[in-house]
Amino acid sequence: MIDVVRGDITAISADAIVNAAQSSLLGGGGVDGAIHAAAGPSLVAECHEVRRRDLPDGLPPGEAVVTGAGDLPARFVIHTVGPKFWEYSDGGVHVLARSHASSMAAAHAVGATSVAFPAISCGVYGWDPVNAAPIAMRAVRESLPQAPGVRAVTFVLFNDEAFDAFRQALDGG
Ligand code: ADP
Repeated sequence: MIDVVRGDITAISADAIVNAAQSSLLGGGGVDGAIHAAAGPSLVAECHEVRRRDLPDGLPPGEAVVTGAGDLPARFVIHTVGPKFWEYSDGGVHVLARSHASSMAAAHAVGATSVAFPAISCGVYGWDPVNAAPIAMRAVRESLPQAPGVRAVTFVLFNDEAFDAFRQALDGG
């Protein structure tokens, strides 16, 4: 049901891949940049349209929104904004959990049966994966009953440090 792999999320053929997006939805660095580069220009066009139509002020941290996936092997991209560690006294634990729960709810809503997550907030947003992994794992586990259509969740980690942390969180829970 929940798995942890090392790899590049843009190459994963899950129904939906989660993007650690910025509130603007208009692309950034890290996994966001990689997803936009691999998806091609239709993704940024769709994000512009979502901004114009539904989110003139951007996507708030902890929430999620779904678009198509352009040229990616996935069917959907679920954009969520994790907490910037330095903006909260506790790093934004609840926001990090909500990013995962919102993404699972969004996946269920569009009928995705498999979802791949990156290590949300573990890059530029400053979270240590050792601390983020148990929160992410628990939030996904707790979301599964409300997302019965989602049969497989894979955390796709880009480096050894994050992979080890998520592997340990999976084994420990
Ligand atoms: P945030 O702004 O939420 O911190 P980042 O994109 O900076 O997001 O980093 C989140 C995590 O995504 C980091 O652990 C980074 O190593 C990882 N990452 C970067 N590129 C990819 C990719 N192509 N596939 C999967 N994970 C990636």
